[in-house]
Amino acid sequence: MFATLSDRLTSTFKNLRTKGRLSEADIDATVREIRRALLDADVAVSVVREFTGKVRERALSVEVSGALNPAQQVVKIVNDELVAILGGANRPLVFAKTPPTVILLAGLQGAGKTTLAGKLALHLRNQGHTPLLVAADLQRPNAVTQLKIVGERAGVPVFAPHPGTQGHADESQAVAGDPVAVAREGLATAVSRQHDILIVDTAGRLGVDAELMQQAGDIRDALDPDEILFVIDAMIGQDAVATAQAFADGVGFTGVVLTKLDGDARGGAALSVASVTGRPILFASTGEKLTDFEVFHPDRMASRILDMGDVLTLIEQAEKAFDADQAEELAAKLASGTGFTLEDFLVQMQQLKQMGSMKKMLGMLPGMGQMREAIDNFDEREVDRVEAIVRSMTPGERRSPKIINGSRRARIAKGSGTTATDVNQLLERFEGARKMMAQMAKGGGMGLPGMGNL
Ligand code: GDP
Repeated sequence: MFATLSDRLTSTFKNLRTKGRLSEADIDATVREIRRALLDADVAVSVVREFTGKVRERALSVEVSGALNPAQQVVKIVNDELVAILGGANRPLVFAKTPPTVILLAGLQGAGKTTLAGKLALHLRNQGHTPLLVAADLQRPNAVTQLKIVGERAGVPVFAPHPGTQGHADESQAVAGDPVAVAREGLATAVSRQHDILIVDTAGRLGVDAELMQQAGDIRDALDPDEILFVIDAMIGQDAVATAQAFADGVGFTGVVLTKLDGDARGGAALSVASVTGRPILFASTGEKLTDFEVFHPDRMASRILDMGDVLTLIEQAEKAFDADQAEELAAKLASGTGFTLEDFLVQMQQLKQMGSMKKMLGMLPGMGQMREAIDNFDEREVDRVEAIVRSMTPGERRSPKIINGSRRARIAKGSGTTATDVNQLLERFEGARKMMAQMAKGGGMGLPGMGNL
């Protein structure tokens, strides 16, 4: 996500590190580099102009601060301005005073609406809501089926026209039927079955067209939604602004959802849409899995772009996956230095896996830009390999690895499909990690990189 932009900006700042004071020429050179980096990342020209204008103005008028060196001051200004163009603060979903809250999803075909509908439904369900998904996309072959699959995975019911009555049994054809009527029936169903949220997936087209807008507009008029979320693929580049503008004029929307932020391409849409449309970004979609979904926080995103990490999101992901009591127990064991066993390690590995991909998590740590190559090369299967080795051990071996002799080692290697060397390496690493964690738990701390090393 924003890898190139992030690299370009951080290397720009590095060039400032040695400067004791910044001359106007230094600032102009820096601003020029920032401008180029943003344009290359496909950020809309108007946004780049305004952004660099503000950065320049503030950098020139900056007071010499004892706390920050010139490079850090520029980073701080760029960070503030990034937060501003991303919308300032997080804007939570607006809920209706009288349920159900109606959320309409609009956007181009392939933007990721259907996938997002499932992610949002799961997110809301986890918060104790009882959402109902409505398949009002009758245009695209299989859209109804796809929403049903997504709903099933999320454990959320889907209201859809029945093939055979309103639609074709063969869904390679568009489902016949009136999307507005389907949306209305969906709403009535939500009321009668007491769902507190209705999420309506609408049809998209490959490009903006009048019929698409008309249909989305008709559904909007029929449902009077509390939120209309414009779903946009962060990879669509310079088209983002025109597309967003067309939807703003044609249907209107209350908020934006960015999808495919996991792609390593330029992602300029993310940085343009909020400021061009004046509508906040509420959520971000970061992969194809149902859990690849985040509440969008402008400050945290800016922090990630500037390679200062996003520890808060990391903690939230951890909180979702980890049981609080278990975590406390684990912390106590760590502090004792000896209590932490391979058994606990196995539990921890499983929880880590629930948090999502290791690559994504490593990417949220501060200062990781410098380690990008190592992260990109990280083999997710390594986690499975380690898990297989620990699983092949007996409970006794997991508690006291010292008893693992040559024959036990051979058995474990065979059982896990690895080699005796792999088993040895794991045991050595575990012992090292256990010692390090015990030290950290005693208050040694590790110190996080990030702005500090500028
Ligand atoms: P819709 O036409 O707007 O309903 O789009 P879909 O939900 O069908 O998504 C189109 C394609 O993009 C599908 O192959 C999805 O799996 C994929 N997709 C959706 N969201 C994301 C995302 O955040 N990251 C990635 N990598 N793929 C996504």
